[in-house]
Amino acid sequence: MAQTVPLLDLVAQHQSIRDDVVAAMLAVVERQAFIMGDEVPALEEAIARLSHVRHAVACASGTDALLLPLRTLGLLPGDEVIVPSFTFFATAGAVHNAGGTPVFVDIDPATFNLDPEAVAAAVTPRTRAIIAVDLYGQMAAIERLAEIAGRHGIPLIEDGAQSIGARRKVDGVWRMCGELATVGTLSFFPSKNLGGWGDGGMMLTQDDALAARLARLRLHGGAKQYHHEEVGFNSRLDTVQAAVLLVKLRHLAGWSEARRRAAARYDDLLRPIGAVRTPVVDPANEHIFHQYTLRVERRDALVEHLRGRGIGCAVYYPVGLHLQPCFGHLGYARGSLPETERAMAEVVSLPVYPELTESQQAIVAGAIRDFYA
Ligand SMILES: *Cc1c(COP(=O)(O)O)cnc(C)c1O
Repeated sequence: MAQTVPLLDLVAQHQSIRDDVVAAMLAVVERQAFIMGDEVPALEEAIARLSHVRHAVACASGTDALLLPLRTLGLLPGDEVIVPSFTFFATAGAVHNAGGTPVFVDIDPATFNLDPEAVAAAVTPRTRAIIAVDLYGQMAAIERLAEIAGRHGIPLIEDGAQSIGARRKVDGVWRMCGELATVGTLSFFPSKNLGGWGDGGMMLTQDDALAARLARLRLHGGAKQYHHEEVGFNSRLDTVQAAVLLVKLRHLAGWSEARRRAAARYDDLLRPIGAVRTPVVDPANEHIFHQYTLRVERRDALVEHLRGRGIGCAVYYPVGLHLQPCFGHLGYARGSLPETERAMAEVVSLPVYPELTESQQAIVAGAIRDFYA
């Protein structure tokens, strides 16, 4: 049946900015400047400013934005990288592809983000890095994780693919997603809050030498063409993508504000339903609601009910990475990460995007109310 409320409506957003984005793209086409054109450094500068970092280095995807900094570590077999299990696959896949072993750690049940105490307990002499994920649009306890990483002299990578522009008050100062990590990473996958017309990503850092190395690694490991200090990758961001993203970036703050308003409306509509727990925002955080994610009773039946009414919804994520067949050799049993496994069974994400209307939200909330009635 036709969806009455889609999970995401990229067409609605596109229509609101169509002329500006198409013009920016055509300007690149007319110049035929597809590779490392002026829009790429312009986007890097703009996002560095937004994220309070000295350097932003664009690359081909959010996955590569994780892989490249991991490759700088020269991981050897058996080297460990602490990651959450309750995240998108790329967080741990990048560790494997960089030659390391992911060590999965449980989450804080309130925010779904890494539990710093569990992280501290998981550090061993072979731990080479920690990757925190800012899940669903709110930052992890990044200052505590940075402190743990600093104590052990290892880097903290902040996977901000879902959280561009999110911020967190630390000692009374607003800190941006990516600002306090050794490297912060972003994704411009089309469904992310700042989405391109294809794949794209970015690496953020305060470290001058690391920024130069990452910029080199995305260009086959050579700062100067045909001269290679190390073996790198072809992981550039297309100029066309940078042009599209520069236009969309002007709207990002307003879009995030609209997402927060939509989340507040859902909170009001859904709080009275006993079987539903609305998202917990850490009081230190300003959330950007990449996802609006509930914990609910009888989750799978609710998902079926909503889909039957033409309402988009999704489960991020139904299987923790510690239980994925591809990581079976690591030996994690069911029950080893109880909060992750509870979340896998209870979460459901509702439609949330800047163009979502109040009447659409009323339809979604009404359907949930009917299910539990
Ligand atoms: C989307 C996402 C990525 C990967 O980004 P791509 O641009 O699709 O490669 C990595 N981590 C998280 C948490 C994500 O949500």
